[in-house]
Amino acid sequence: MSVRVRYAPSPTGLQHIGGVRTALFNYFFARANKGSFILRIEDTDRERSTNESIQDLYDTLNWLGIEWDEGPVVGGEYGPYIQSERSRLYAQYADQLIADGKAYRCFCTPERLDALREEQEKTKSKEKGYDRHCRNLSEEEIAHNLAQNMPYVVRLKVPTEGKTSFEDVLMGTITRKNKDVNPDPVLLKSDGFPTYHLANVIDDHLMGITHIMRAQEWIPSGPLHILLYEAFGWTPPLYCHLPMVMGKDGQKLSKRHGSTAVRDFREKGYLPEALMNYVSMVGWSYDDKREFFSKEEFCELFSLEKINKAPGIFDYKKLEWYNGIYIREKRDEELAALLLPYLKEAGFVGSQVSEQESSFFLSIMPLIKERLKVLSDVIPLTRFLYQEVAVEDVQEFVPKKQSLGDTAVALARAYEILKAHAGEAVEILEEQLVEVSKELGLKVNGVFMPIRVAVTGSQVSPPLFDSIRALGWEKALQRIEDGVKMLEGEVDDE
Ligand code: GLU
Ligand code: ZN
Repeated sequence: MSVRVRYAPSPTGLQHIGGVRTALFNYFFARANKGSFILRIEDTDRERSTNESIQDLYDTLNWLGIEWDEGPVVGGEYGPYIQSERSRLYAQYADQLIADGKAYRCFCTPERLDALREEQEKTKSKEKGYDRHCRNLSEEEIAHNLAQNMPYVVRLKVPTEGKTSFEDVLMGTITRKNKDVNPDPVLLKSDGFPTYHLANVIDDHLMGITHIMRAQEWIPSGPLHILLYEAFGWTPPLYCHLPMVMGKDGQKLSKRHGSTAVRDFREKGYLPEALMNYVSMVGWSYDDKREFFSKEEFCELFSLEKINKAPGIFDYKKLEWYNGIYIREKRDEELAALLLPYLKEAGFVGSQVSEQESSFFLSIMPLIKERLKVLSDVIPLTRFLYQEVAVEDVQEFVPKKQSLGDTAVALARAYEILKAHAGEAVEILEEQLVEVSKELGLKVNGVFMPIRVAVTGSQVSPPLFDSIRALGWEKALQRIEDGVKMLEGEVDDE
């Protein structure tokens, strides 16, 4: 029997780290077993489902390079793969369960159910949820209600005795007493649309799904799903509930920890291969040591046995570290092409980039490659090459523990030297600047920092002389001169 797995998101928000990890594990598992990876959209919640979420799902999977063998857009034998296009089918299966005595129509009004809930809360009753009022309506009552066109939902007849178990590859046997399962959950809503439970079970069965890998938060639904498989007389797939993705504080990863939407990571300039690599390592490991895997390697090496049982911790810094490493692996041409959109967005270049602009940009790759943690870092790092710098506060020139006066003198001296020796070998220039620092009794940085700020407008920049060369000596000297004036003006005011 060949492996068939699915990623079945509900399109009610942007794809996030946890969801994408589920998608990746399913995808890798399918590839490692020469099986099929199916994408199914579970849009049974009509109010919360949006087209934007569906588009974001496609964009995210495409960006990561996860291609689905069957699903929306690509089609397949078991389609349609969007649940809202399958409503008729669920209603038919619900009817079948009614006919078999496994489910029943409930005509209770929302008012009755509200009153029931209030009563349960008020009396702190042990009975929670639906009171099974319609479970034993007589044939006549049912016929009467139907003749009156009374709206109804379809509920599953959950056995009141016994227990239900299922096997989970990671967690072992999970057992729940039937009396603790949600009393008679709704399968079909009064508008004829299915609930998640009904649609999910029917589709997994009809689509021939062999393994269900999904977030651990679905474990509580497990027994109910098993009862549904039993009601239909179907064999359930194998389950493998995935440990949660947590923030560093041990809480479920959420917006409180930072961005969790993959789209945000993409926009900031994380590379898909870095995100894929790191996210997959949150909860899976090959051998405790190895940290780097390409998509192809995951597709070959992934196995369920190596999924960690403990929750995974998502560490933003670690992702950044992976990203920096993947960035540095890029050839200059590749990197420049990836960075270009950020330059355009910042307005450093127009939408049409001239040959001269692009060869200049290519030439500065060695200056910035080591310093990029995310692609968007290119904006602050190269701003000084494309825009005039504007140092707003004169204190920016001043290194810690150094006076404004000393800084003014240092920069003025540096200016004279650099002006006299512009374009000469870096070693000679550096030597002379170090000499100045000694004479003035300053740290080396006490001379270099104000130059850096004058030239680049920032205390962090690519290497100083490379920056000056990229900018051009003439402009650089002009900026240093402006810096000197600004500092001296401030000294005079004091
Ligand atoms: N639609 C469910 C979700 O959004 C899928 C759960 C499952 O994989 O069974 O997470
Ligand atoms: Zn009822």
